[in-house]
Amino acid sequence: MVVIMRCDATREEILTIKERIEAEGCRVNLIEGENQCILGIIGDTTKLDPDKIQANECVERVTKVQQPFKLANRLFHPGNTEIKVRDRVIGGDKIAIMAGPCSVESEDQILEIAKTVKESGASFLRGGAFKPRTSPYSFQGLEKEGLELLKLARKETGLPIVTEIMSPDMIDTFVEDVDVIQVGARNMQNFDLLKQLGKTRTPILLKRGLSATIEELIMSAEYIMAGGNENVILCERGIRTFETYTRNTLDLSAIPAIKRLSHLPIVVDPSHSAGMWWMVEPLAKAALAVGADGLIIEVHNDPANARCDGQQSIKPERFKELMEGLSEIAKIEKKSI
Ligand code: PEP
Ligand code: MN
Repeated sequence: MVVIMRCDATREEILTIKERIEAEGCRVNLIEGENQCILGIIGDTTKLDPDKIQANECVERVTKVQQPFKLANRLFHPGNTEIKVRDRVIGGDKIAIMAGPCSVESEDQILEIAKTVKESGASFLRGGAFKPRTSPYSFQGLEKEGLELLKLARKETGLPIVTEIMSPDMIDTFVEDVDVIQVGARNMQNFDLLKQLGKTRTPILLKRGLSATIEELIMSAEYIMAGGNENVILCERGIRTFETYTRNTLDLSAIPAIKRLSHLPIVVDPSHSAGMWWMVEPLAKAALAVGADGLIIEVHNDPANARCDGQQSIKPERFKELMEGLSEIAKIEKKSI
């Protein structure tokens, strides 16, 4: 961290700021120019609050040099993190494909979709039991019954299940029943939920918030990791931009950026990204080409009558074709599906 003092800062003011920083356990290098003084801070700056330093009238600007995240930082963990989920690994040479409906609707629906996506090579079954809907009048998910149906589908197919948690009250049930706990975009900064999930050891799929920066996403992962749960998988699912043609804008540049900043695996959700079924294939392919470790794709056997997100769900036949195309791209990337 670097503190740039104002040109008119007095010697006394400069020394006061220096002493305050030193009191937090950091060393301060005073660089005195002809008109301006700069304080170079060395050591663990996590305890320092840049906004608080900036609040001093004698301070012109505070600039961070280091990233504010430690546990998720590639600097301190150069190798890629691989997360074990049952007999599968996310973040290694094998691309993780999570597929299934937006929401669990019935036993027949989830079993049929689970079987077909498995036949096409999916490695995880996704499906929401607790749904975060924009309108309180929309279908909210089958809730506990939905979880039971997911467990049944896992029993029938062997596919580990990925499903979204909405409330800290459900953590014990999810830890017991679920293989990967999804934190949805709307809850990315539900810090209480993140802290509680940090106490578990269940892998967490953390989706990027609708308007969250890459740094904010990684800081949310840091919350979970700071509690002791290092099994975090990040997910780029499109962000809000000025564009209205698509539901969201898939930020493909986030994948190489996150790979550079963090050792955590990252998957892409091409369904929520654009919100249109016919864009799922090109976006999924693009995601693998930029280095994603996996994909989470909405697949529905009857999209026209889906209770949630039918417009962005692909049919099982199309998913099968997509998987063939993805295998080719995975090979180019020296990975497999
Ligand atoms: C979902 O996966 O169905 C979902 C609600 O995703 P997001 O949180 O990214 O909107
Ligand atoms: Mn959905």
